[in-house]
Amino acid sequence: MLPLEPYVPHDLRLEPSLLAERRRTVAQTTLPHIYAQYLKAGRVEAPLGKAPEKIHFFYDSDMAKLLEAFACCAEEFPNPQLQARLEAYIDSLLAIQEEDGYINSYFHHVNPEGKWRWLHSHHELYCAGHLIEAAIAWHQAFGRKDFLDAMCRYADLICERFGPAEEGKVYNFPGHQEIELALYKLYRYTGEERYLRTSEFFVRERGRDMRAWREELAELSPRHNAEDFMVYAQAHLPPELQETAEGHAVRACYYYCAVADIAHATRDAVLADVCRKLWDHITQRRMNVAGGIGSTPANEGFTRDFDLPEEYYYETCAQIALFLFSWRLAMYEAQAKYVDVMELTLYNSILSGLSADGKGFFYSNPLLAFPREDGSDVQFHKHFGMCERVEDFACSCCPPNVARLLGGLTQYMLAQTGDDLYVNLYIPFSTPAFSLASAYPFGNVIELEWHTNDTRRLYLRIPGWCRHFELTLRNRLLQPEIHNGYVVIGEPRQAGDRLVLSLDMPAQLILSHPDVYRCSGMVAIRRGPLLYCLEEVDNGKNLFSIRIPGHPRFDEMDMTIGEIRFPALRFDAEQVIYPDSSRLYCPVDETEVIACEAKAIPYFLWGNRGRNRMRVWFPHRPVCSSSQGDIPASSASQEQ
Ligand SMILES: [Zn+2]
Repeated sequence: MLPLEPYVPHDLRLEPSLLAERRRTVAQTTLPHIYAQYLKAGRVEAPLGKAPEKIHFFYDSDMAKLLEAFACCAEEFPNPQLQARLEAYIDSLLAIQEEDGYINSYFHHVNPEGKWRWLHSHHELYCAGHLIEAAIAWHQAFGRKDFLDAMCRYADLICERFGPAEEGKVYNFPGHQEIELALYKLYRYTGEERYLRTSEFFVRERGRDMRAWREELAELSPRHNAEDFMVYAQAHLPPELQETAEGHAVRACYYYCAVADIAHATRDAVLADVCRKLWDHITQRRMNVAGGIGSTPANEGFTRDFDLPEEYYYETCAQIALFLFSWRLAMYEAQAKYVDVMELTLYNSILSGLSADGKGFFYSNPLLAFPREDGSDVQFHKHFGMCERVEDFACSCCPPNVARLLGGLTQYMLAQTGDDLYVNLYIPFSTPAFSLASAYPFGNVIELEWHTNDTRRLYLRIPGWCRHFELTLRNRLLQPEIHNGYVVIGEPRQAGDRLVLSLDMPAQLILSHPDVYRCSGMVAIRRGPLLYCLEEVDNGKNLFSIRIPGHPRFDEMDMTIGEIRFPALRFDAEQVIYPDSSRLYCPVDETEVIACEAKAIPYFLWGNRGRNRMRVWFPHRPVCSSSQGDIPASSASQEQ
């Protein structure tokens, strides 16, 4: 029975785990920190119009994401002081709502005549979308109705204003997608069909007749190539003809989220197929090994197939957008492969966006860091924190986005349809009916225990990285069928029953597709869902001279960074000793190779111990001689 719905038992409690710790850090440290930064930058007082020269046209969206994140965490981690400040912010925002329902701090105080004038670039509908999502979250968490009512009035204005020209409406589209997702969410929350219709209009009509944007572009930036901009903002083709992921990665995946919602809501098989194709294209051609997308800072977006440089770019928000797109497909298609990508991005290139102490952020999440001694990389990337996380960015989309994703974590874990219960993400929790215990993603054993009888059919995801697993119920080995990446357990469980899933989770060397030419001859280290990296602080300055011979044995050792305890991996490696650092090149026979011990840590934890070099991909020396003892005697003799 399809599709799935998120399942969050109202009495669900997260139990200690890596993600529960990250969520606690977000609630207790990150949210007050972001608020303080936003107060300094002028975001908090933007609706008051106090320093109009400071107000940017996307400030309301940053505050909206902070509001949403706070609402998601408040039940478990109440913070009355911050709540009072955010309440005051909402009051100030509602005070500038105009007669017709319009709300935007920038256009209200700074540029009233620019209202609705540059939809392609000025993020007006993007801000509206995030405010709508925030209002829903505050209504759910605190029952605050005036905020929701105000945002419904604003949404009504948007629905009255934008739509088909034959209905006398303005035929135009947001430059940065988000309103589509928010209107769909508001439709699901209120049941009001008009929100669905306007979301559908923005989704289906985008890329057909973009004359309005061309006129705006001619007025605002006449030298800009309009066709390039159409690709950048996924308006180069109508949705049913989009088969490759193009342009700005956050916009793209937000758009694909909306296409998936509309395909689902209107049972449109063509758009559903578009979503599958786009997701396949991203994950098979344009996603790095950490689940990062958008490989260049030039357009913060997609470039060409297999163009996945180590040192760029992979904006935290882009991975969050891919997570949200994958989540929708996981719900609409009930296939584990979509959850695998949610998990990949979440544990690697999303978690890396937040420092261990919860007060620092990466905008981009590279797979290689090379801090310059003169600090020039900081200068170059000062907004993006390439080699070290920073407290905030001028363009501050990522910090509250990672906070709201982790804040809202519980909605992504479980799903249901009819009498089927799906366990998607293995995050420990307890409810009065059943609980899940595990040290995942560091540990490989997942234990489910029932406290009441349960007749639902149970679907447990077998992660794509897992080559072998074992499943027992009441200590009896089960041989269940596998369906779309899930093991299916039809046998009812009784109170006291324990189901134990053991996933083989050895550290493995990973190779990329041979056409990812930048990584040819290189390997990365993965253990379960976690990608590992090597840092200078553990492995010395000559980090880039390390290479990995054959298939090393990885020994796990306990390590702690901040409050996060994890298994580091120690293994035997080699280092090439370069004879003379004053020379740019030298013959290989003048170098020396020495054995060394290397230590790898989970990628998401890099950059928490000062500015230092980091790398994920390492040159690999395959072992091809039987004398090395790596090849079984039988296959070695076949080769001779
Ligand atoms: Zn961002």
